[in-house]
Amino acid sequence: MITENVKALLKELPEGVELEAAAKTRSAKEIEEAIKAGVKIIGENYIKDLKNVYESVKTPARWHFIGTLKTQKHDLLRKKYLKIFDMIETLDSFEIACELDKKCASIPKIMDVLIEINSAKEPQKSGVMPEDAKELAVKLSTLKNIRVVGLMTMGPRFGNPEDSRPYFRITKELFEEIKSLKIPNLTMKYLSMGMTNSYKVAVQEGANIVRIGTKIFGERACSLDAKD
Ligand SMILES: *Cc1c(COP(=O)(O)O)cnc(C)c1O
Repeated sequence: MITENVKALLKELPEGVELEAAAKTRSAKEIEEAIKAGVKIIGENYIKDLKNVYESVKTPARWHFIGTLKTQKHDLLRKKYLKIFDMIETLDSFEIACELDKKCASIPKIMDVLIEINSAKEPQKSGVMPEDAKELAVKLSTLKNIRVVGLMTMGPRFGNPEDSRPYFRITKELFEEIKSLKIPNLTMKYLSMGMTNSYKVAVQEGANIVRIGTKIFGERACSLDAKD
């Protein structure tokens, strides 16, 4: 089924929109099948999931970290894992960015990052508040071993995908605003938004990376919500 699901999604997504497989709890075999079917980006939330699968996935892909930095940074900020990830999509704090920058300098490596926006201003969610995003972007641009390449948002997990539209729109507006500032050492290239239930709306609102788990791999066995 994974192969068929990926092929259908690739056919459906407009040109220029990349499909990222959100792979939490999935096995190496499942991930390998998704890559062979055409997925080029694998998103992992947990270092423990990465550990379980990374060595066994033989087909090359780009690996993105999409988990909560606050709880995962202890593991993530090790050379071994920083070498594996091509992008961290969930950066939302200058303090963590400084630690990340230092570690990346010691590899040495320049890490592509997205700034995560808490577009619905949900107190329990991670991400920088929309009104603080520009200031964070300017500060991050001063770090030599981090390169901001865009924005990411989760948006609220509503039953009705239309309810996510305003939050995708806010994020896209910020994306354009930050782009227009022409900050050195920063580009607004990627806008990562939309999951299984909301990716169509996200694409309409300008997403060029969609992060999809369920619609590729099927329902998750344990009821892990996004980013728990
Ligand atoms: C799990 C997850 C997704 C995908 O969720 P689905 O509803 O299964 O498509 C996307 N983004 C993040 C950050 C996630 O943790």
